[in-house]
Amino acid sequence: MDRIYLDYAASAPLSPEAVKVIETFLKGSPVGNPSSLHIEGRKMQALLDRAHTTVAAILGVHPTEVVFTSGATESNNNLIRGVIRAWRLHHEGTPHLVMSAIEHPSWRQVAKHEGADVTLIPVSTDGVVAASDVIKAIRANTVLVGCMYVNNEIGTVQPVAEIGKGVEAYREKHNSRWPIFHTDAVQAFPYCNTHSGHLHADSFTLSGHKYGALGGIGVLVLRKNMPFQSTMRGGGQEWGFRGGTENVLGAITLAAAMEHGDTHRGHLTQHAEGLQNLIESLIAQKLPKVQVLGQKVLRAPHISYLWLPGVVDEHIVHKLDLVGVSVSSGSACSSGATLPSSTLVAMGYDEREAFGGLRLSFGRGTTRAEVTQAIGRLVEVLG
Ligand code: PMP
Repeated sequence: MDRIYLDYAASAPLSPEAVKVIETFLKGSPVGNPSSLHIEGRKMQALLDRAHTTVAAILGVHPTEVVFTSGATESNNNLIRGVIRAWRLHHEGTPHLVMSAIEHPSWRQVAKHEGADVTLIPVSTDGVVAASDVIKAIRANTVLVGCMYVNNEIGTVQPVAEIGKGVEAYREKHNSRWPIFHTDAVQAFPYCNTHSGHLHADSFTLSGHKYGALGGIGVLVLRKNMPFQSTMRGGGQEWGFRGGTENVLGAITLAAAMEHGDTHRGHLTQHAEGLQNLIESLIAQKLPKVQVLGQKVLRAPHISYLWLPGVVDEHIVHKLDLVGVSVSSGSACSSGATLPSSTLVAMGYDEREAFGGLRLSFGRGTTRAEVTQAIGRLVEVLG
């Protein structure tokens, strides 16, 4: 039986563009540390420079504003810590953070760990935060406002540009550098506009393996002059913001995958939308009791979140795995931990109900025949 992979939001298959740059890299018998002064080191540095330039052009920022990291978890962790550290240089007391109630754990959990006061902004029953609620929660000691761009569980698009503009207006009115606005844009690329001119964010994060690059490479965009104190010491790499020898191979796969995503945005979006529509019309026909969440609001096209009343998702994920279909229960980061979906809880589902979700996510390599077969197998499993 052919396996059908519907877990792109957890990790997408390596893209042909990434494979090509890996092959070329290996043929060149790569050796050398980008920081070394000899020719081998300079060749590595040149590859890294090109990756910075490519990613920066796609995001509409300067190459020195692109910091390569090991992934979005590291980017999110460092951003919170680095901004709080910068604030503490000149302020006494407890920093305050504002964030939506549906943030990724790599954001939510760090904030608490850093001893900050956190205001969580509730979302609607459709899983969307109101920009005005976020802005209203800003106080004199608010250091950071965080809102993810696309929710990684149900795919709802959050009003990040509106929040970014609201934060800018607040700073102007109070003649202050604070708060900073950060968006976790991991699930937004390439389907949503991640150009800095659109986002109005001071910083944002991306993760390579969601777009067809190797795992272990991510981006933290830090706009010029924003308050940030690096939390890493012992190496001046990545403009002093992320010490440690760089992952050159990861960076060039990231640049190649993002370049493809950027060039083919329209086609990729149309393809994903077609798959999403097909999945959701098949569900409506064959499994009318199953609900698709977020359908009434703006959603990214690569995720369909199915809610199965009275069903505990982990069991379905395992049963689907046995019949050759790979999907996720909520978010991959929390699977294995058997926790209810924090997004569903924030949307008003009770803890028991919040176990009943199944995330199907797909992309460039997914075919219509595959999703049709996958839904057929889901019908059998739910039998
Ligand atoms: N933020 C979001 C919205 C995500 O979906 C993920 C991946 N589950 C992450 C952060 C963490 O990304 P990474 O795997 O690169 O650490």
